[in-house]
Amino acid sequence: MGLRMVLAIANDLITCPDLDTTLREAVEAARSKLGLERCAIFIEHDGFLYGTYGTDGHGHPTDEHDLRIPINKVWQDRFDRLTPEDAQWITVEDTHFEWDGKQAVPIGRGWITITRIQSEEGFRGLLINDANISKKQLNEVQQEVVSVFCTLLGRIIERQQAEESIRRTLAKEQELGEIKSRFIATISHEFRTPLAVIQTSSQLLKHYHDRLNDSQKAVYFDNIERQIQQITMLLDNVLTIGQANEVGLDCDVEPVDIVGFCTRLIHEATFVSNTRHEIVFSHTGHATCLVDEQLLRQTIMNLLTNAIKYSPQGSRIDVEVSCRDDEIVIHVKDQGIGISKEDQALVFEAFQRAKNVGAISGTGLGLSIVKRTVEAHGGRVELKSEEGVGSTFTVTIPLTTS
Ligand code: ADP
Repeated sequence: MGLRMVLAIANDLITCPDLDTTLREAVEAARSKLGLERCAIFIEHDGFLYGTYGTDGHGHPTDEHDLRIPINKVWQDRFDRLTPEDAQWITVEDTHFEWDGKQAVPIGRGWITITRIQSEEGFRGLLINDANISKKQLNEVQQEVVSVFCTLLGRIIERQQAEESIRRTLAKEQELGEIKSRFIATISHEFRTPLAVIQTSSQLLKHYHDRLNDSQKAVYFDNIERQIQQITMLLDNVLTIGQANEVGLDCDVEPVDIVGFCTRLIHEATFVSNTRHEIVFSHTGHATCLVDEQLLRQTIMNLLTNAIKYSPQGSRIDVEVSCRDDEIVIHVKDQGIGISKEDQALVFEAFQRAKNVGAISGTGLGLSIVKRTVEAHGGRVELKSEEGVGSTFTVTIPLTTS
């Protein structure tokens, strides 16, 4: 074991592609080249020491990633004893402990040496070396070599942590850029269809108003109104997701006549979607609930328009609302195309759509709005679905008073 060897190891570690590889190779080099029989590297991050890699009793490298030790008073006192003025390393002479995953368990008087991994910026972590098996402590000279190794390792770790932080920032920026482009492309595409219908209907009314009878005109006016509502819903969703991402959604509760409210929403959703479904509404419990009407409107409208959109004409949709003392539970149940098990967690993420949508258009925003608006109420949304059979969305919102 000598300084020349330490420099050769550091030279190899510098070229490791990432921090994880560096730590794994550092432990392996400490074992095979510096002859440390049992050692482990812990890295400091946000007030905790995280285990990385170590060697076991037979000298084989181990993965210690689930070790996470809070830097509490006991540990802080230990680190303070390792200040550079004091010493780069200490041998723990007192009873030593082994971490059993939950707590430090005393295993007798030990042969543990703790060496500080240090960079110019300060403390980076610890190399813990345990000579418990051979009971052969490193001598002063050998320990000095280990100290130099830890100092070089500290610098390499510092550089790699900085590089990883830059890589993470770049990846995040790239991801944000991609989300923005996808957002603009999806939204502009979804605006085009209603705008085209409005344009065609208004041109027909303008050029042929003298040849159209009242009921034909009513159809075109309805078309225009329907498409305007569609655009308004789309805009509401875009604004809500923007607000949810930037400042979070406010929840201002007020008494809402739940039967009248749901009946209006069912009419509106049926009108906007312009399809014939058998929508069956049932209500139990209190007539009035304390909820945020705007948020709940977006929750229910998105669930209803989806139930209509993803199930065949004429099929039945059940909307069941139960206002209890402490919570309101809403079920929206359809007999539509359903969502496969693997897509069920995904569809609540913005822009994610299930694989079976076929030609049915959509932005992939509705369910993320449902999730956000329900969570703003302190509630939760659950999905039960089977492909080809149908879906049931259940929203549960806690109520403070009714
Ligand atoms: P979209 O605008 O695509 O409908 P949503 O966020 O509202 O976006 O829904 C996300 C995806 O979840 C949809 O694209 C669809 O794949 C699936 N989905 C949502 N509701 C239903 C439903 N009632 N039946 C079947 N699939 C649904």
